[in-house]
Amino acid sequence: MFAEVALSISTFQTFTYKIPKDLADNAQVGIRVKIKFGNRFVYGVIISLSNKVDYNGTIKNISEIVDEKPIISDTLWKLINWISYYYITPIGKVFNTILPVQLSSNYSAPLYWYVKYNSSINQNDIIILKNKFPKQYNLLNHIKLNAPKYVSVSSLNELSKSPLSSCKSLYKKNFISLVKKEKDFNFKDYSFDLINKNIIFNSDQKSILEKLKKPGSFNKFNPFLLHGVTGSGKTEVFIDLIKEVLKQGKTGIILLPEISLTPQIAGRFMSVFGDSVVLWHSQLTNAQRQSIWVNIFNGKHKVVIGARSAVFTPLKNVGLIVVDEEHESAYKQHSPSPMYHGRDVAIMRSKLESSMIVLSSATPSLESYFNYKNNKYKYLELSKRYGGAKQPKVTIVDLVDEREKSNKSDIVISNILFNKIEDRLKKNEQILIIQNRRGYSPSVRCNDCSEIIMCESCNTSLTFHENTGSLKCHLCGFKDMNVENCKSCLGSNLFYIGTGTQKVEKLLKKTFNNASIARIDQDSIKQKSKMTKILKAFSNKDIDILLGTQMIAKGLDFPDITLVGIINADLGLHFPDFRSSEKTFQLIYQAAGRAGRAKKNGEVIIQTYDKNNPIIKAISNFDLNNYYKIMLDDRKLLKYPPYSRIIKIEFIGTNINSVISFSNNIKNNFSKHYKGLQILGPASCFLEKIKNNYRFQIILKSSKKYDPNGKKLHSFISHNFFNKKNVQYRSNKIKIHVDPINMI
Ligand code: ADP
Ligand code: ZN
Repeated sequence: MFAEVALSISTFQTFTYKIPKDLADNAQVGIRVKIKFGNRFVYGVIISLSNKVDYNGTIKNISEIVDEKPIISDTLWKLINWISYYYITPIGKVFNTILPVQLSSNYSAPLYWYVKYNSSINQNDIIILKNKFPKQYNLLNHIKLNAPKYVSVSSLNELSKSPLSSCKSLYKKNFISLVKKEKDFNFKDYSFDLINKNIIFNSDQKSILEKLKKPGSFNKFNPFLLHGVTGSGKTEVFIDLIKEVLKQGKTGIILLPEISLTPQIAGRFMSVFGDSVVLWHSQLTNAQRQSIWVNIFNGKHKVVIGARSAVFTPLKNVGLIVVDEEHESAYKQHSPSPMYHGRDVAIMRSKLESSMIVLSSATPSLESYFNYKNNKYKYLELSKRYGGAKQPKVTIVDLVDEREKSNKSDIVISNILFNKIEDRLKKNEQILIIQNRRGYSPSVRCNDCSEIIMCESCNTSLTFHENTGSLKCHLCGFKDMNVENCKSCLGSNLFYIGTGTQKVEKLLKKTFNNASIARIDQDSIKQKSKMTKILKAFSNKDIDILLGTQMIAKGLDFPDITLVGIINADLGLHFPDFRSSEKTFQLIYQAAGRAGRAKKNGEVIIQTYDKNNPIIKAISNFDLNNYYKIMLDDRKLLKYPPYSRIIKIEFIGTNINSVISFSNNIKNNFSKHYKGLQILGPASCFLEKIKNNYRFQIILKSSKKYDPNGKKLHSFISHNFFNKKNVQYRSNKIKIHVDPINMI
């Protein structure tokens, strides 16, 4: 017998291997095997079996069979094939993304030192320790506090200079046990608030639950779009749905855009479902992944909550998939390939599983809204907040006007916003301030020679970071500690332009010096568990003002936030990307939804230099119908999704002329054009140079009118890229983005 084996390499080719007799009984489609490839051993997956091959050369034997049973279900197998086709990615690479263990390496988890209090200690010995070795005694007390749990030795750094050697002496004296083991994963770091709530559904919630729970509704492909305003109780609805799914002996997947940013939601599920629920996300170690994967496969966990890759977990008999905040761009994988969209893969999986799928959002994506309008999804609406909380009152502050009145060149906090903050602080209510740009100032100009200080590798301005006293490139991570002098003329008359979160923070701290203020952005939250810590403090009201980027704009549910301030609503609005208005709208609308979620009324202050912008206007009166109308009209006119499908072909290389001629060459040799296909470019990307690599792109737009399922576009790509032998890449690279979510 022979097997076709897919490897984790950048080729669409599969390789034929012979199955030796002694392995023949165990060879099945979907299991991993070890094979000799070139002169090294690698892992691959059997994708088909056959009795004969028409290949004349020597065929090597499979060396080893890794799995006893397939590690993926039949539906997952089909899903993998679809992803490979749709996202134009070799199947071995798809496996690498999906499987908990990399195909290419034999992974073993790193080990760490842990200690545990020994409960059978003699009191006398403790007294002796206390007198003789007070520091070790201190350490022991700390370890005791955590008993019977293990404490990682590295967490004792604050108590002892060399915790490991202290622990070793405590161990020798038999006070503690000391082991080396895999890292403990503490779910509590990522979840939050394990409280059981008393849930009484209101009539709107009841009515949509009735529609969702109709007999048989979890047994067929059954797609819904749940459009619910923030705070309307969507999460409670999902919890109730999952109860029903479990009752019917089925399983469910809840996808969240980023699990570590939504500890509250995970916590709510865990408090209701306990061990049946498991979290699946990028912070797990490989070993944890593997063991959770096996537990899911074996049916120990019936509900998986996680970020986009949770859509691949091997649950059997899936009855429900929820894609919460379905509009979020975090569902799109950027690297490595496949560059899939978690929501779209979820829809495909739901089709393959014949299950219900609920896409949920307060601001549904234009794609999903369009699908509902075209009767592809059933539409459910929760238009009121639970418990009668009102939508917040929105005030638009015209910064142009403020600037003129105040004679300042740069307004960060307007008078109106200042007064409101002061008022809320007096009332002991909480405030959320959003500025979707990190750092102190996004660019720095030399007033002597007028040059903007740039990153040489990326042709983009460097951002001044006050807390680290450095200039940083947000594209490549380059850091320059010289913040005193201009790089061109060495002058020292530098001027900081624009406002990032650090500047807002400094200003807030100076202005409201009695308030407690915390900042959340990529720089302040290096470890994700720190986010949970800050949110807990905010929840306990140890923090008055929470300031941050889009990281704090969504998902948070705190009853005492009564004011949300948007420092500059225009950021991002004018990016040369057809999704920039949609993204801006979603961000501000979501942020506004954090205000006044409970008894106290909320208020939102939106500062803008562009008060007549139709998007800003639509936000200010929560006019979603108008927003969808404006946006869809626009997209239709310009033939952008959802009226077309897009594939972006990115050309990358270190020599600009070579990249240009390469991309032109490819375009000029395109053949098999078809009606409804529009080809734009090649043109340089908006971010033209990143890390010394020049970037150009060709955009292919395929009208849905002529190519409703995208098949023509896909065959255009495979014809032009995979059937041609003489494409000269030289040192350039191509990346093909299917349904790209950004165009810059
Ligand atoms: P969403 O997910 O739509 O933003 P949530 O599910 O977070 O809304 O609901 C907002 C708040 O209202 C939460 O604190 C939630 O527990 C509460 N809530 C919603 N529905 C109910 C209900 N039927 N009974 C009790 N509390 C509810
Ligand atoms: Zn750079």
